[in-house]
Amino acid sequence: MSPHMTSDEFREYGKQVVDWIADYLDTVESRPVRSQAEPGDVRRALPEHPPEHGEGFAEILADLDRVVLPGITHWQHPSFFAYYPANSSGPGILGDLLSSGLGVQGMLWATSPACTELETVAVDWFAELLGLPFRTDGPGGGVIQDSASSASLLAIIAALHRISDGTVAQQGITERHMVYVSTETHSALAKAARIVGIGAGNVRVVGVDQKTLAMDPEALDRMLAEDRAAGAAPVLVCATIGTTSTAAIDPIRAVGEVCRRHGVWLHIDAAYAGVAAVCPELRWVNDGVAEYADSYATNPHKWLLTNFDCTTMWVADREPLVAALSIQPEFLRNNATSSGAVVDYRDWQIPLGRRFRALKLWAVMRWYGAEGLREHVHTGLAQAASLASWVAEDPHFALHEPQTLGLVCFRPRWPALSEEDADAATLRLMESLNNSGALYLTHTKVAGRVVLRMALGGTRTEQRHVEAAWQAIRAEYRGT
Ligand code: PLP
Repeated sequence: MSPHMTSDEFREYGKQVVDWIADYLDTVESRPVRSQAEPGDVRRALPEHPPEHGEGFAEILADLDRVVLPGITHWQHPSFFAYYPANSSGPGILGDLLSSGLGVQGMLWATSPACTELETVAVDWFAELLGLPFRTDGPGGGVIQDSASSASLLAIIAALHRISDGTVAQQGITERHMVYVSTETHSALAKAARIVGIGAGNVRVVGVDQKTLAMDPEALDRMLAEDRAAGAAPVLVCATIGTTSTAAIDPIRAVGEVCRRHGVWLHIDAAYAGVAAVCPELRWVNDGVAEYADSYATNPHKWLLTNFDCTTMWVADREPLVAALSIQPEFLRNNATSSGAVVDYRDWQIPLGRRFRALKLWAVMRWYGAEGLREHVHTGLAQAASLASWVAEDPHFALHEPQTLGLVCFRPRWPALSEEDADAATLRLMESLNNSGALYLTHTKVAGRVVLRMALGGTRTEQRHVEAAWQAIRAEYRGT
């Protein structure tokens, strides 16, 4: 007898799985947001050895309830306010399921033309929805990556290729290349610098405006000039639209002018906030991108309803990226590639193989339409505005301003405590809220002080959840 699942069995269990997911999402609110598991709990609940004889799917599903769910932190819980959201949605989940169902590996156009061409259309559509100028029929174009971190790494690889005229791809790094970030830039840039061999020590950290926490373009200008005068070869500046700590927005136009003057690649990490531009009144976040960005990445897998993983990345000119990464081993040769008439996305990313991620983004854009996406962003913004106003009105709390987009940062006031003790008290307050299971929030540091962060914009978060979270925070504060 064949060990494979028959199509009748697949239909039966497939329906059970979809029902399981629907029930899970319907009841996720009743679960503690952050997993209460202790280290090793999940592992201990699992057999030490794999089965010799196959098991029924019902048993797998039973273990999902018994073993897996207690070890899940519920990112789709309406009271999940930690980090930034990783939204899922019905069309996003189903698009991903269809990708699994097709089981396509789209490394080349020839290995599934639809996987490539649908992706090209999806990223072109998405650029249009965000009001971005990137189009695949021009010199640049877009691609879907697994993460914003990969996009940053790829930007550095492309920038190294451009600045060295291809030498780095052949001989490795022969000059003292430098990458420029701000104090607020995501750690993915330092990681990328380590990976490419530039080294974290050659990541230069530019200061920020003390209030807005946005990169200081004049400080960048000075640093670039000094480094070049000292014999270094600046390669890339990463500006951020929506920093991880406070959603600060770097002045792209001013930073871009500096980059242009110094001949340095400008990468924009808009992982969180770029998608806000589906709302025309928020397109200001991307001011300067059209004129100055060499590469740009934003994550529909954060705020915009597309299941993880889905980072849309565009380059103004695809040549340095593709030239840096394209290698033609015999086993990948095919007529379509040789004709030059097709895109092979393997040359736009680190791995060779690639999933059919475009299906979920395409499904999300078609299901919601531009108006549905705008409505979702507006809901998160309205919830953030309410929370910010409650914090601002409460004398026991200090709101971090400017409050930006869907992120609200604040800290409790502890007038009797030193700064150090106050920070410790803030962290204890956060831990006890998170241990309660009622909500999940995280912290950061601003100007050396601990600050709490609440990111709004979850698919299932309603105003009542934000109100309940705020009441829980106040009650916890009063109880300390
Ligand atoms: N860049 C910024 C500004 C972020 O906020 C984040 C994550 O929150 C990242 C990069 C990393 O994103 P990814 O997980 O897609 O690599």
